[in-house]
Amino acid sequence: MAVKLQIKADTHMTQKASLREFDLIPGHISEFASDIKSLHGVDVNMCFQCRKCTSGCPLAEFMDMTPTQLIHAVRLGLKDIVLDTNTYWLCVACGTCTARCPQETGLLKVMDALSNIAIKEGIMPKEPAIAEFYNIGLFMVKNFGTVYETGLAGILSLKTGNIARDAGMGIRMLKKGKLDILPHLHNSREMKKLFKKVAKREQELARS
Ligand code: SF4
Ligand code: SF4
Repeated sequence: MAVKLQIKADTHMTQKASLREFDLIPGHISEFASDIKSLHGVDVNMCFQCRKCTSGCPLAEFMDMTPTQLIHAVRLGLKDIVLDTNTYWLCVACGTCTARCPQETGLLKVMDALSNIAIKEGIMPKEPAIAEFYNIGLFMVKNFGTVYETGLAGILSLKTGNIARDAGMGIRMLKKGKLDILPHLHNSREMKKLFKKVAKREQELARS
């Protein structure tokens, strides 16, 4: 049977994949879907395209593919097209899609799996600010044991050249006590040990 994968008309994906038809063979699991299942335990074939995930996703309108389209594309094995989207980079891991899914497909884990695969394959986030956000956030967690939001926002604004745009909002938030001026340390020593452990484990996995 043939199914249609519809891509938003206002994205770069339009020329490549919009309204193209892809064959979906009942019971067949694409290599891409199979990889995600073995690595992250998520069976994308459980999805029956009800779109509840997309209707609850706060970022769906900014994504090249909606969560519903993305899981379908994974199911079809369209790895290059999926990895070329901003969808999984924009995901803020709020878990709404997973909570709303009647099939318990674990869409959030699919998003995680895709960013892991992309990083391993050297694919950079389509929005440079997203890569910076992750790098700065990880640096803060490693060194302070938590995310120091004021520092993260300030460094991110500087690095992305948005300091003039963001400064006013930052000052208003500081005045209202929504941001702390100084970072608070939370088990930063243990966190550094944890980072070392993860780095060692990743090296072992890369060698195996
Ligand atoms: S809510 Fe679940 S079953 Fe429905 S489209 Fe999303 S992933 Fe598929
Ligand atoms: S976890 Fe990601 S994909 Fe799911 S609803 Fe939240 S932002 Fe959207």
